[in-house]
Amino acid sequence: MNDRPIKKLVIVGGGTAGWISAAAFARLLSPPLEIELVESEAIGTVGVGEATIPQIIRLNAILGLDESDFVRRTFGTFKLGIEFVDWRAPGERYLHTFGDAGINLANVHFHHYWRRYALAGGRNSLWHYSLHEQASRQSKFGRLDRVGKANMTGLAYAYHFDAALYAAYLRSYAEARGVTRREGIVQSIERDSETGDILSVTLDGERTIAGDFFIDCTGFRALLIGETLLSAYEDWSRWLPCNRALAVPSERLSPLPPFTRATARPAGWQWRIPLQHRTGNGHVFCADFMSKDEAEALLLGNLEGKALDAPRLLQFRTGRRKTFWSHNCAAIGLSSGFLEPLESTSIHLIQSNVGRLIGLFPRTRGYDADRDEYNRRTADEFEQVRDFLILHYNQTTRDDTEFWRYCRNMPPPETLTEKIELFASSGRLGRDVDDLFKDSSWTQVMLGQGVTPRDYNPMADKITDEQLNEFLGNVRQVIDRAVAGLPAHDQFIRENCLAEGV
Ligand SMILES: Cc1cc2nc3c(=O)[nH]c(=O)nc-3n(C[C@H](O)[C@H](O)[C@H](O)COP(=O)(O)OP(=O)(O)OC[C@H]3O[C@@H](n4cnc5c(N)ncnc54)[C@H](O)[C@@H]3O)c2cc1C
Repeated sequence: MNDRPIKKLVIVGGGTAGWISAAAFARLLSPPLEIELVESEAIGTVGVGEATIPQIIRLNAILGLDESDFVRRTFGTFKLGIEFVDWRAPGERYLHTFGDAGINLANVHFHHYWRRYALAGGRNSLWHYSLHEQASRQSKFGRLDRVGKANMTGLAYAYHFDAALYAAYLRSYAEARGVTRREGIVQSIERDSETGDILSVTLDGERTIAGDFFIDCTGFRALLIGETLLSAYEDWSRWLPCNRALAVPSERLSPLPPFTRATARPAGWQWRIPLQHRTGNGHVFCADFMSKDEAEALLLGNLEGKALDAPRLLQFRTGRRKTFWSHNCAAIGLSSGFLEPLESTSIHLIQSNVGRLIGLFPRTRGYDADRDEYNRRTADEFEQVRDFLILHYNQTTRDDTEFWRYCRNMPPPETLTEKIELFASSGRLGRDVDDLFKDSSWTQVMLGQGVTPRDYNPMADKITDEQLNEFLGNVRQVIDRAVAGLPAHDQFIRENCLAEGV
């Protein structure tokens, strides 16, 4: 029985998760795998998910996508980071950029040199020495791998895009590579009475689609993994209490900022995502602390331009499936869990889970060890991202509303507490090799949220005060020169990837 080959993959759901899965499996495993995807236009998709992180560039490279074509067809823009406004305290801002600040010297992270300078009375923030920050402030963007002859990495970036067009783009990619799409509503799911494995899904009471392996991409419904296979949901609302979002498009911004903005609100936060033809906005809030009407008024009152539609309400609960791969079914996307969109991580988790599933995908039914490994690694990744998100809420001086008082007083998970204590003591970060967020991300958000190291790495004392000042001055000069040579974000888009009709 266990050596029965896996020849047919059925993906249930055609949102971003379904079509990323279909595209990647088609590219890397078909043939020999036959792939069918079922989706229902009547049910539709969640329709949000427009900001990404740089790892998406790896997915595009694996799929062999042409970047300019991809950005043009999804009305995309470029993203250098996320600006957090009013998070640590009202009136304060910082940019979580996708790049390192400054230049590391003699194997010591730049922020230790900066900390030495600041402890001696220096007033410039770490971001004064960030290429991404300076480019963002001037709304500039270009493809820049390295900065001149300096040992400084160039601009790391991601995209903002229209979620519906992104799924459509991947759909045409996957269909061109042999994926068969079936339209219809899955109404029943048949299981093997002995093993409990899924045998088939039946649409509209008649058409049956059988498969050897299934991917559940049915979104929050979790039709296969949750309703059928009963994988429980681990609730993380005590740490990430937001459970509603109102989303609304508004007029296009000009100039186009090359970053997402996340502004703290009395019971949550508001996003602003600039696209070529419109701006995506949303208010993520906790219904225990704010009514929908209040949340809607705040959202509409804080748009930078006319609303183009009525706000749409979405409900969610932060957490994850206890088991992501159960029997012959793996959950990808919202069916596998949800971490709120503060750091734009959901599409990344889709991509990362698809990559992991492909890496461990079995040829035959004897896959217990692969499945266990998949579940372990996926759980770790969810937890690392969870801790990073909690940092934003927990490390704040805000006590102006009940929501913020709750957030600052909640005990964070032990894993996060240890990280905060280590950073606060010496500016060091523990090594989680697999952590999606690297040292530069943790450093920026720790500092941005007010976790300031009391000390720094003594190796940063190897240079004299004069050398330190010269080094910092040079870093800033290199950055200024590099930014001066970049085009405006709008100009870059106009010259390389302007969408039709914009
Ligand atoms: C408020 C909010 C903001 C977000 N912002 C971001 C962001 O900025 N960046 C980011 O990376 N992510 C973001 N996300 C997450 C992102 O939207 C999702 O990860 C992504 O869209 C994937 O969704 P999905 O494909 O899993 O589910 P869905 O889009 O809900 O797709 C589910 C699919 O299953 C199908 N389906 C369901 N039931 C059936 C059935 N019975 N029969 C047949 N078909 C069925 C539907 O038709 C649909 O095709 C956000 C999410 C929310 C809630």
